[in-house]
Amino acid sequence: MRLITIKQFVIAMLIFLFASEAAIFYSFYKDARDTTLNLLEENIKVNIFNLKHFLDKNFQPKNVGNIASFLDNKINTNPLIKDLIIVSRQKQILYSTERARKLQIPKTACIPIRAIEEADIYHEKCFTFKVKQFDGLIPYYLTAYVYLDTAYIDHLIDEKGRKFLLYAVTYILFFSLLTWLLIRFILIHPLEKLRQYAYYSVKAPGQFLISELESIRYSLKLTFERLRKEQQELYTLSTTDPLSGLYNRLSMTEKINWLISSHSRSHAEFALLFLDLDNFKTFNDIHGHEFGDKILMEVSQRLLHAIRNNDIVSRLGGDEFVIILPEIRNNEHILEVIQRIQSELNKPIVLNETKYHITCSIGVTIYPKDGEDVSTLLKNADIAMYKAKELGKNNFYFFTEHLNKIIQQKIHMQRTIRYALDEGYFSLHYQPKIDIHTNRIVGCEGLIRLDDPSDGMVYPDALIPIAEESGLIIPLGRWIIDEAVRQLQAWQETPLRDMKLSINISGIQLNDDNFLPYLKNAVSKIDPSKLDIELTESVLMEQFEEKLVILEQIKAMGITLSLDDFGTGYSSLSYLKQIPFDTLKIDKSFIDDLTTQKNQSFVKMIISIAKELHLAVVAEGVEDEQQLQYLKQMECEQYQGYFCSKPLTVKAFEKLFSSSFCDQ
Ligand code: C2E
Ligand code: CA
Ligand code: CA
Repeated sequence: MRLITIKQFVIAMLIFLFASEAAIFYSFYKDARDTTLNLLEENIKVNIFNLKHFLDKNFQPKNVGNIASFLDNKINTNPLIKDLIIVSRQKQILYSTERARKLQIPKTACIPIRAIEEADIYHEKCFTFKVKQFDGLIPYYLTAYVYLDTAYIDHLIDEKGRKFLLYAVTYILFFSLLTWLLIRFILIHPLEKLRQYAYYSVKAPGQFLISELESIRYSLKLTFERLRKEQQELYTLSTTDPLSGLYNRLSMTEKINWLISSHSRSHAEFALLFLDLDNFKTFNDIHGHEFGDKILMEVSQRLLHAIRNNDIVSRLGGDEFVIILPEIRNNEHILEVIQRIQSELNKPIVLNETKYHITCSIGVTIYPKDGEDVSTLLKNADIAMYKAKELGKNNFYFFTEHLNKIIQQKIHMQRTIRYALDEGYFSLHYQPKIDIHTNRIVGCEGLIRLDDPSDGMVYPDALIPIAEESGLIIPLGRWIIDEAVRQLQAWQETPLRDMKLSINISGIQLNDDNFLPYLKNAVSKIDPSKLDIELTESVLMEQFEEKLVILEQIKAMGITLSLDDFGTGYSSLSYLKQIPFDTLKIDKSFIDDLTTQKNQSFVKMIISIAKELHLAVVAEGVEDEQQLQYLKQMECEQYQGYFCSKPLTVKAFEKLFSSSFCDQ
C-alpha cells in the first residue's frame, strides 16, 4: 500500500474543502445573480412602463419641442435607459435622444414590451412599445424605441459578481490557510517532533495540545527514561565485576586499548600488573566458596586502597587481578606501588574472629616494551607472574624477553610431547646394569627418548620437567609402562627372557588415582618381578603416608622398587626402614669423585647400610676402570654407566647383551 503523509492528506482535504466551498459559493452566487437580474428586470420594466405612461399622457407630436428637453433630461438622469426614439406612423422620427440621432441607431430587432417577461433583459438592448395618441377621438399609435444602457447593466451585474467572487475567494483562502496553519501547529509539528524524539531520543518535546499526542509523548518519555536506566544498569553490569565491584575483564580491555591509542601518540609508557593470590585454591577448598568470596572482596578493597586515583584495578576472574598504572616515571615508581600492594595484603584478614594471611604474586609488563596490544601485555604479565610464583610466593617479577623465550620453549616442548605421543616418536633406550663380579648384564634401565623429526633427539632433562609441569607426564608415563611391558613380553622368547627392566616413575604419576589400576592391568601380562620401579627421594617428601600405602601396593603386585639418586636428597634413613625398597642406587655425583677419602667413606657406608637392610646396591655413572675397581673393593654388586655403555636402542642393547660380557 502506498503511504501518504499527513501533509498530503491535509492538502487533499483542503482541496476537497476548497472545491466544495467553491461549489456552494457558486450556487449562492448564481442565486444572488438571478435575484439581481430579476430586480433589474423589474426595475427596467417599471422604468419602461413609467416612460410609456408618461409618453401616453404627455407626448404630442405637434408639441415635441415643449417636451423634448424634459424627455432629454428624463433619459439622461435614468441610468438604465440610454436612448429613446419615437417614430410616427409614417416612420418619421418625432423624437430622438441626441446620441441616437448622431449614431442613427437602427430601430429594428427591438422586443415588444408585452414580451418583456420572456426577454433576456441582460442581453437585449432595445424594447419597443406603442404610444397612444388621439386624432380627435380616434386613437392612433406612435412607436417608441427604448434603448437600454447595457454597459451600465453589465457593469451593475459584473460589479456584484466580482465583489461576490472576491469575498468568496478571500474567505475560502483565508479559511484554508487558517485550517492549514492550525493543523500544522497542533498536529503536523507535534507529530514531527514526536517522530524525531522517537528516532533520536534526545530531548523530550514540551507538552502537546492534542490529548492523544500528549499521551504518546508522555509514554515515550517514560519508556525512554526506563530504557536509559536499564541501559545504564546493563552497562554497569557488563563493565563491573559483580562480586568485587571492580572493573571486569571487558572494561579493563577497553581501558587498556584506550591507553594504548593515547600513549602510542605521546610515546608514553604505562605498566600492567598481573596479580594472583597465593594458595587461594587451598583457602577455597578448605573454607568453602563463601569464605573465598569474602577474602576476594576484602582483597579488592585493599587493592583500591593501595593505588593512586588514576590507577585502575580490575578483577579478571577467580583470584586474578590486573592493575594498570597509566603514568609511570620509572621502575622505582612501579616498585613503590607493588610494595604498597604487598604491605596492604600482608596485613592479616580477620574473618569470624580468625586471622588469615594472604600473599600474592605479581607479574609486570610495560607498554610498549613488553607488548603493543592487550593480549600480549596480559599474556606476558601472566608469564612474569608465574615466574614470581616459581621464585617463591609473595614475590613479583618484571617480564623480560629472556623469560618469554624460556616460556615459548616450554610451550613448544609441550606441543612436541603431545605430537610425539600421537605420532609415536617416543622410544625407550636401555642402559645395562652390570654385575660387578661377573661382568654380566643382569638388568637394564629404560630411559625415555623423543626422536623428533625436526628437533632431533630430545633427552629427558629437557622434556620430563615440562611433562610434569603440564600434566603430560600422566599419558607419557602410561606409554612408558606399556612400552616396558611390551618389551619384556617381546624378550620372553629370546635370550633376554630373564632381563629385569627398571623404569623411572615421577611423583606426579603416583598422585594420579588411576596409576595403580593402570599399572596392575599392565603387569598382569608379564611376570611382575621382571619390572622394577625407580623413584627418587624427592617423590617421598610430600604426603609420605599416602605414598607409603601406594608403594606397598606396588610391592604387593610383585614389582620391585629402587631408590634412585640416593645421597642427593634428604637421604633420611627412616625412608629405607619404612619403605620396602629392594635396591639402592648410589648417585653419580659420589662416583664421579671416588678419589676423595670423603666420598669413598660415604659410598662405603651406603653399601654397608644397604647390606644391613638386605638391599641390593647399584652404583650409577661409572665411567672408568678406576671407579669400577674402587666399587669392587667396596663389594658393590652392580653398576651402571658409560664405562660399559650409554643407554642404547633396543637393537643395540640386544646386540650388547648377546656379546655376553661388558668388559670392553
Ligand atoms: P636417572 O634415573 O638418574 O638416569 C640416569 C641418567 O644418567 C640417564 O640420563 C643416563 O643417560 C645418565 N648416565 C648413565 N650413566 C652415565 C655416565 O656414566 N656418565 C654420565 N655423564 N651420565 C650417565 P638421561 O637418560 O638423560 O635421564 C636423565 C634423567 O631423566 C633420569 O635420571 C631420570 O631421572 C629421568 N628420566 C629418564 N627417563 C625417564 C622416564 O622414562 N620417566 C621418568 N619419570 N623420568 C625419566
Ligand atoms: Ca633412574
Ligand atoms: Ca639416578
